[in-house]
Amino acid sequence: MSAQMIYRSTRDNGVRVTAAQAIARGISPEGGLYLPTSLPKLDAARLDVLAKMDYRGRALNILGDFLDDFDQSALAQSIASAYGSGFASEKVTPIVSLCPGTYMLELWHGPTCAFKDLALQLLPYLVTQAAQKEAGGKTVNILVATSGDTGKAALEGFKDAPGTNILVFYPRDGVSRVQELQMTTQQGGNVGVCGVHGNFDDTQAALKKIFTNLEIKARLDAKNAIFSSANSINWGRLAPQIVYYVSAYCELVKGGELAPGEKLNIAVPTGNFGNILAAYYAKKMGLPVGKLICASNRNNVLADFISTGVYDKRREFFTTSSPSMDILVSSNLERLLHALTGEDDAAVTGFMSALGREGVYTLPAQMLDALKFEFYGDFCDETETAETIKGAFQNHNYLCDPHTAVALKVYRDYVEKTGDATKTLIASTASPFKFVDSVLTALTGQPGGDDEFAQLRELSSLAGIPLPPQITELESLPVRFEQTCEKEEMERVVLETLGL
Ligand SMILES: *Cc1c(COP(=O)(O)O)cnc(C)c1O
Repeated sequence: MSAQMIYRSTRDNGVRVTAAQAIARGISPEGGLYLPTSLPKLDAARLDVLAKMDYRGRALNILGDFLDDFDQSALAQSIASAYGSGFASEKVTPIVSLCPGTYMLELWHGPTCAFKDLALQLLPYLVTQAAQKEAGGKTVNILVATSGDTGKAALEGFKDAPGTNILVFYPRDGVSRVQELQMTTQQGGNVGVCGVHGNFDDTQAALKKIFTNLEIKARLDAKNAIFSSANSINWGRLAPQIVYYVSAYCELVKGGELAPGEKLNIAVPTGNFGNILAAYYAKKMGLPVGKLICASNRNNVLADFISTGVYDKRREFFTTSSPSMDILVSSNLERLLHALTGEDDAAVTGFMSALGREGVYTLPAQMLDALKFEFYGDFCDETETAETIKGAFQNHNYLCDPHTAVALKVYRDYVEKTGDATKTLIASTASPFKFVDSVLTALTGQPGGDDEFAQLRELSSLAGIPLPPQITELESLPVRFEQTCEKEEMERVVLETLGL
């Protein structure tokens, strides 16, 4: 079987790897991110065929193109296991109509109640198959930096996966209590969790250094092991996310909400720029998508970037009620830059080294125009987030989590400013129960108590929605991981935990 789909690096177009190599390695040795040299095409006829399939069929059809060097029957089995009984909805990613023309794409019916499950339930199968093909059965050590949701989803995906270990670093004071308990009670024999005194950007930067440290690589080689990443810098995270946008479009056409070929805007609450980048790729493949609406919280570096072309991370970092978006360095933007520069790897390298050196880079005017043509960016502060949660519940009987509320508010502001009446899909990225304190406070106007399980029961009865069992069970699970470290100590923790 010969691969047609070749991947290269954002920082070196000369790099040529297959999908399996890209997924096994996670990041290219010179620090760039892998991306395909060309995208598969989605035309009307193919969308028609896809509309007749279920979620798994669509996933196999689309991922088969991107992962063409994988054994396709193994891929089909992996997809069946990943998107099976772990999802509470038969449709995997059900759509709820908020009001005419506004659709909530609920991406949180998986085992950890956030959209990360859509990629991370599948990724372990892809990584182990890729490692078998490309790394000769070496042990794969997955290192994860999380802003809250990736950590749990990756732990749940990789727990007891043969030939793997997984170690997650999370910001000790930057996640919700439910998010933290989900991680620190994780079961499985190959898992580790460590809180860091620092924010997500600190942990992500420290891990990138560890990934590209040659001395550590030599120690891994001696142990017949490799590192890989479960963060959205790994192509194996992004590809599965393309599927749900395509699938949602098909569902809307099937349900008569959209005419075939009709444009659909997509609004995404954004942090590391992975989820919205997947929507961009779906558009580039041919899905009829209009504007991509990029919604930030108070950490509004992306909103500024899309309006001015200046990416400036030298600003105050805020801890917000939407912690999974508390990010100032959005890694996946690098992949978009590769496209916007006309695939100019030297220009991307220049931007990224300016960002590392000076903390800022500026797009030339032409690139800014191209960016604005595809994207609209804005942000929503904490008060607006709370008001949006309350308003959606009162007016539409829809309970949304703070991340989703950010997207809803930015979308509404967009409509007000532009008058664009295009139907819109909003990525609903987490269960409101994961952020029970903020959601309950938004609804009742009262600060919540200290007992998160009492809060969970209160929110459940107030909203008339049953608690997901995987959240209820946290109350009785023992805490297994209490270790914390400084960000400077992460390298030591990695070496010790993995016995290097
Ligand atoms: C991760 C996450 C986001 C941000 O997604 P990116 O792909 O990092 O932009 C938004 N909402 C929730 C609930 C998340 O877990």
